[in-house]
Amino acid sequence: MRHAFPGGTPALDFPGTLRFRHRTEPREDLDSPESLGAWFREAGITVDDVPAGPDDLREALTLREAVHRLVRAAMAGEEYDRDALALVNAYARKPTPVPQLTPGGRQVEATVGQGLAYVARDVVVTLSGPDVPLFKECGNPECSQIFVDRSRGARREWCAMDPCGNKIKAAAYRARKRANGLLTARRSG
Ligand SMILES: [Zn+2]
Repeated sequence: MRHAFPGGTPALDFPGTLRFRHRTEPREDLDSPESLGAWFREAGITVDDVPAGPDDLREALTLREAVHRLVRAAMAGEEYDRDALALVNAYARKPTPVPQLTPGGRQVEATVGQGLAYVARDVVVTLSGPDVPLFKECGNPECSQIFVDRSRGARREWCAMDPCGNKIKAAAYRARKRANGLLTARRSG
């Protein structure tokens, strides 16, 4: 798997493909048409990689940023950006991937446009549904991944332990060690 799916739903995982948005230089996971084609398969939307070209990638990134704006607005309880809303709704009206049962199992016929329509419909359902109050941003200050926190008592802090949880816990451990070191130095000094 080259992509991560910590969001709990495509509406959150798709904008998550631009990772670490709080860094000066975020990390682009959809850095090629092939990477986009693989995302649909890894997300479980299709069975095989979706054939994709450079135009498909540009289209996908435009939709992704619109989804990102809507998710942030929903989380903050702010009004939706009209252009972002219009774009997502336009995709939600388009045909979605077509599942077919074959002797070899499930096959899914899909173009990138159909895959994006699937994501857009998920955005419509998710942002109008009961999960919005459970949206949480990863506790790693550099990480911008938003996930649905379905944990008991809403105590989930990280999009994933690796790398985010581990990184922050290691930093906290080092800070504690430094503080203890200072205390010990003072006591003996
Ligand atoms: Zn994270």
